[in-house]
Amino acid sequence: MSKSLPKRSENYSEWYNELVKRADLAENSAVRGCMVIKPYGYSIWEKMQRALDDMFKETGHTNAYFPLFVPKSLFEAEEKNAEGFAKECAVVTHYRLKNNPDKPGKLMVDPEAKLEEELIVRPTSEAIIWSTYKNWIQSYRDLPLLINQWANVVRWEMRTRLFLRTAEFLWQEGHTAHATKEEAIAETEQMLHVYATFAEEFMAVPVIRGKKSANERFAGAEDTYCIEAMMQDGKALQAGTSHFLGQNFAKAFDVKFVSKENKQDYVWGTSWGVSTRLMGALIMAHSDDEGLILPPKLAPIQVVIVPIFKGEEQLNLISETILPIVAELKKKGISVKFDHSDKQSPGFKFAEYELKGVPVRLAIGARDLANGTVEVARRDTKEKKTYAIADIVETVSSLLEDIQVNIYQRALAFRAENTHKVDTWDEFTKILEENPGFIAAHWDGTSETEEKIKELTKATIRCIPLDAVEEVGKCILTGNPSTKRVIFAKSY
Ligand code: AMP
Repeated sequence: MSKSLPKRSENYSEWYNELVKRADLAENSAVRGCMVIKPYGYSIWEKMQRALDDMFKETGHTNAYFPLFVPKSLFEAEEKNAEGFAKECAVVTHYRLKNNPDKPGKLMVDPEAKLEEELIVRPTSEAIIWSTYKNWIQSYRDLPLLINQWANVVRWEMRTRLFLRTAEFLWQEGHTAHATKEEAIAETEQMLHVYATFAEEFMAVPVIRGKKSANERFAGAEDTYCIEAMMQDGKALQAGTSHFLGQNFAKAFDVKFVSKENKQDYVWGTSWGVSTRLMGALIMAHSDDEGLILPPKLAPIQVVIVPIFKGEEQLNLISETILPIVAELKKKGISVKFDHSDKQSPGFKFAEYELKGVPVRLAIGARDLANGTVEVARRDTKEKKTYAIADIVETVSSLLEDIQVNIYQRALAFRAENTHKVDTWDEFTKILEENPGFIAAHWDGTSETEEKIKELTKATIRCIPLDAVEEVGKCILTGNPSTKRVIFAKSY
């Protein structure tokens, strides 16, 4: 077994980086800020994609694909969006290389192959998509237009970290067009709830559903909704966003429709996205000092069976009992690996599957076989128990359900323990220093106060929760009146 992971309590950030690498999820690449997602990591992402894609389809969306490049003139059409993303755009200026006459064997950009118009590598696809929608939408009959795309995007991030913030990332982006404002807002909210449901039911990560303050709003949106999750170091992670775009992109790209009443108007838009950042959220929310803890619904291998044997004869005996169980588990849709390789010791395998976060491990040796039992270990609590082989399929399937619920409950309890209602500035700063987490406090609603609080404490307003109750209060910093508590935290 290779050396153990750094401890979360000692260096959370090192622990995360090492875990991502050692569990074979991803690694840094030859390109600054861009990662290689390794097969094990990618198989978790695929499970996320599949579940999300099903949810998008159930809510009436279909997938399509738009180009990677956005001509600069289209990119700049929606001014706020362009301005917001300008600082992090990769730009293509040439389309050819040639041999460098001064340096044999080396290439250079061919100055004669300069593009007439630069191409922006999409940081998000509103521009290219709305320029297309102009051709697709003429009348109310063409609406709503409910489209999603799975793609990669590039944002030239300065400080990157595997999964959480990379320069190129994978994501899905929904782009919808509607006849009315109300319908577009309902869509924005619906997709936020889809994300929240996915986070809670599949990732087992509780999230706060809310709206961003004006400062944190998506460039070009009228309103940005988000889900915010708490990581085990108490920091917040924005795990998904859903934007109400008003008529901004329709106006920028001249997308109009004729209504039933034969009136012409601009269409209303939304966009929404989640990215490979969700992998970071999954890892940071549940895992421990021994490795990953994966919720069964997203674990590529849900059950591993490790036989403990000496020689082929013993293995054959164990296999005789185990193979029908493997078949039955598979029939129930449970992914199972029977690791009978003799290249590694059982102890090595145990540690390896712990590191990889396999939710349930079965171990069976000659003595168990004689007793008609099998040892079952669950990854979330590390509890080990002996069960009858005869009931093992039932035991395992109910255990997987238990683990899914338990991980969620644990994360929920952790969030509750680390969320504080605070009414004074002293308490606010003290908590941020001593016991980071979420702080529910009053804010006067101005961008200036938000900025000032960020400057003084590094905490930002994560969101204005959708379920915030109306109450009379005073802003934590200025003492000005406020009607609702918002969530403050330091964040990733
Ligand atoms: P946005 O388009 O800015 O609303 O972001 C859409 C989604 O992408 C959100 O769920 C973000 O959390 C995620 N995201 C934004 N920037 C990055 C990044 N650099 N790396 C990974 N995910 C990101």
